[in-house]
Amino acid sequence: MMPGEPSTSRVVRDVLVPRSLLSWPEAFGGTEVQDCLRGDLVIEEDMSLRLKVSASGVYPRGLVMPKLCEPHVHLDKCHTISRIGATGGSLQDAIAAQSEDKGNWSAEDIRTRAGRGLRELAASGCGAVRSHVDWPHEESAKSPPTAWSVLRELAQEVAPEVALQLSPLLGVNDYAVPGVADAMGKLLGGTDHALGCFVYDQPDRKEGIMAAFRTADRYGLALDFHVDEGLEKGLDGLALIAEAAIETGFKGPILCGHACSLMNLTGDALARRIERVAKAGITVVALPSTNFYLQGRNGGTPDRLGITRVHELLAGGVDVIIGTDNVQDAFCPLNRHDPRLSLSLAALGVHLDPLYGLHLPMITTRAEAALGRTPRRIDDTPPDDLLIYQATSTADFLCSTASPEPLFAAIESRNP
Ligand SMILES: [Zn+2]
Repeated sequence: MMPGEPSTSRVVRDVLVPRSLLSWPEAFGGTEVQDCLRGDLVIEEDMSLRLKVSASGVYPRGLVMPKLCEPHVHLDKCHTISRIGATGGSLQDAIAAQSEDKGNWSAEDIRTRAGRGLRELAASGCGAVRSHVDWPHEESAKSPPTAWSVLRELAQEVAPEVALQLSPLLGVNDYAVPGVADAMGKLLGGTDHALGCFVYDQPDRKEGIMAAFRTADRYGLALDFHVDEGLEKGLDGLALIAEAAIETGFKGPILCGHACSLMNLTGDALARRIERVAKAGITVVALPSTNFYLQGRNGGTPDRLGITRVHELLAGGVDVIIGTDNVQDAFCPLNRHDPRLSLSLAALGVHLDPLYGLHLPMITTRAEAALGRTPRRIDDTPPDDLLIYQATSTADFLCSTASPEPLFAAIESRNP
């Protein structure tokens, strides 16, 4: 550029940028306001970003964010409550009701419901999503269900705006059936889909977990477990997974959903369990909506919180992220596909206090890392991949239901 030539940098006036989502907050500029930096966002010709301190109005224009990451949904099940109705309310009731509903799961039915779910996730600002896919059992587990091909087609249709990963959801005991683990490895090998299963109290769960680890290692896959989804004493799935990870030295991402039964442990026993989970490199995804609905049922008002020990896991060095799980199906009759709502529910339920910027990585950068993706931080993400939400604080962002705009749509000036 010649001296005197007008600058070609672009500006978005008066925005907030959460400090927790910057690689280098000290070098970004702006004025510190609670957990954010505030100022005019300058997009330089080389696409680098900085904040310039500005004479600000009373309220900022909006909050700049990277795309959100949804680490745990069930797009094959979602939006079925309109024909399921009442179930009884326990996990077993939900499994039975959803199983009966599968008689309706034609390719067209799944495409209609899952497509709606994906549009809702995209509208909330998600750029990466992992959905579980219910799977047949035992010998039948060697052949994918209809939902698998429908969701793979949808994944191609929404890419690259939304990266949709899938994870087959079968019983951990199915991996102990000869040939199943290898068939799954061949199906998933070379993709970014994750080897998944449901671990509860199956008699051969240990063999199944070891088979899942061996297969994931051989085919270069991430692992994703639904584990200990209950408040009963004696559930040991998370402990077995941690020991398998340590024993095998598995290096890929391991994501464990639910882990509700950690609520039964306190003191030294809890500290020892968490120490092993941390050593194993496991990320725990807390799933407040479905857990609050299904867990702690006693015939009246629940007096036990059915969610994992978020604070204690974090204090013990375990990454904890937040997922949306079920939306309007037998497992959760309410709910919305929106990580902002899921983090809000978790924050109220387990007492995550303001300032909420500290917790935003649970639905962005740390969630992406847990899915084996490169985390998108605001100062190292191309500006055309950033969003702006109408929000005046990180709390306001979590309460908002409006869809974000692309950051580039908010550019107001080419000559700062
Ligand atoms: Zn789930």
